[in-house]
Amino acid sequence: MSTSALVLFSGGQDSATCLAWALERFDLVETIGFDYGQRHQVELECRQTFLTKLKKSFPAWGAKLGQDHMLDLRLLGGVSDTALTAEKQIEFETSGLPNTFVPGRNLMFFTFAAAVGYRRGHKVLVGGMCETDYSGYPDCRDDTLKSLQVTLNLGLASRFVIETPLMWIDKAQTWEMATRLGGDKLVELIRDETHTCYVGDHTTKHEWGYGCGVCPACDLRRNGYQEFFSK
Ligand code: ZN
Repeated sequence: MSTSALVLFSGGQDSATCLAWALERFDLVETIGFDYGQRHQVELECRQTFLTKLKKSFPAWGAKLGQDHMLDLRLLGGVSDTALTAEKQIEFETSGLPNTFVPGRNLMFFTFAAAVGYRRGHKVLVGGMCETDYSGYPDCRDDTLKSLQVTLNLGLASRFVIETPLMWIDKAQTWEMATRLGGDKLVELIRDETHTCYVGDHTTKHEWGYGCGVCPACDLRRNGYQEFFSK
């Protein structure tokens, strides 16, 4: 029996690693991305470049890589007031969460992924969420996603499984996973062609990839890279 999965692919390091993880396990892998009105559209450009180069560098994976679904969720950016969807400084709210938190984002993403999966016949939905070293977003937590899986299965009378291969590993271990899956070639592709920076800087290059070097997302990425490669 052939197996398939739908991967939430944003163009960042985590979802790129998850994409390789899925390509190693499933016969057919489709991708889904969302334009939610993020300030920095560079993320969306990165995902196309990454997909093209991945197919070229890894022909066996390329043969399994199916359709890419790009959804317009700009409504989400329109109803939220965050540093990712409006021109604002990144800072902490009184709730303790950074204002880069986009309320409802992962809930919406998985709900739409399930709707696409329902139509395309994919039972496995894969996301790069992680609660090991993260920004504290409540919708990245394992319990949130386990609960959402139950809700989706009840609401759609289906049997989806939400897979989050990075949930319990840190950023250094994410690089380790990339190395295990695709060696140096995959590590270089992820380092050079994915985007993580909150500020949208994709012109300043560091040993760990492009980014402003000071935002919380760049911090996490740099620390993980240095931890892994200094071992
Ligand atoms: Zn940055």
